[in-house]
Amino acid sequence: MALLEIDNIDVFYGDLQVIGNLSLSIEEGGITSIVGANGAGKSTLMNCILGEIKPRKGKILYKGENIASLKTFEIVERGIALVPEGRGLFPFLTVEENLILGAVSKEAKSKTRENLERVYSLFPRLQERLKQRAGSFSGGEQQMCSIGRALMAEPDVILLDEPSLGLAPIMVKTVVETIERLAENGYTIILVEQNVMTSLRISKKGYVLQEGRVVMEGLGTELLEHEELRKSYLGV
Ligand code: ATP
Repeated sequence: MALLEIDNIDVFYGDLQVIGNLSLSIEEGGITSIVGANGAGKSTLMNCILGEIKPRKGKILYKGENIASLKTFEIVERGIALVPEGRGLFPFLTVEENLILGAVSKEAKSKTRENLERVYSLFPRLQERLKQRAGSFSGGEQQMCSIGRALMAEPDVILLDEPSLGLAPIMVKTVVETIERLAENGYTIILVEQNVMTSLRISKKGYVLQEGRVVMEGLGTELLEHEELRKSYLGV
């Protein structure tokens, strides 16, 4: 059985249907990419998995349980964390205060100190600057902080929405390496990236979304070779 199974969901904003009959299946471990043009519904899908938007129809099965109607904190408690588009940090709080906010469940809260140490060993740069306000950080450092905050929830699954958006090329490389490292450490990663080539290269599986529907799916390496996809999204 898949770890996360999206089963035939419809999602609306008011009368506007953004996702229709969408199904996809995420196996445990590794990176799965969701790619597609602007407005295809990628962020909506991520927010829907996290319970911030409710599907009007369909199921979201996580470890066999339908989580589609649960509240966001209940979903985070079950093991899914989001690194949102735009990082979502509180700029006037320090790095450490931002990180601590990621510990949502009682269990994660009780392990705050040891989880902070784990985040600092992954991102030593954050430890050097833990008392500084997050807003004073570069985009790349803020992304590390946002990923660190997700780890504080002790997730099994990490959703990353456009993690390299707006970053300098050198930082994009660091973020990509970080995501690969998280996958090597056993986290299941769902990655939405405008950088389609890079994200498919590091993914075991990819889904292509168009107007809220899955129009293509396959192994990352297969999709990279797909002529239509290369023309539409890779400009090749
Ligand atoms: P992008 O890469 O631009 O973020 P995306 O694939 O993530 O694109 P979404 O942000 O999910 O796409 O948006 C899908 C559609 O839903 C778009 O047409 C968008 O205008 C619309 N939309 C998104 N958020 C809202 C909202 N809060 N209210 C109404 N419409 C919305």
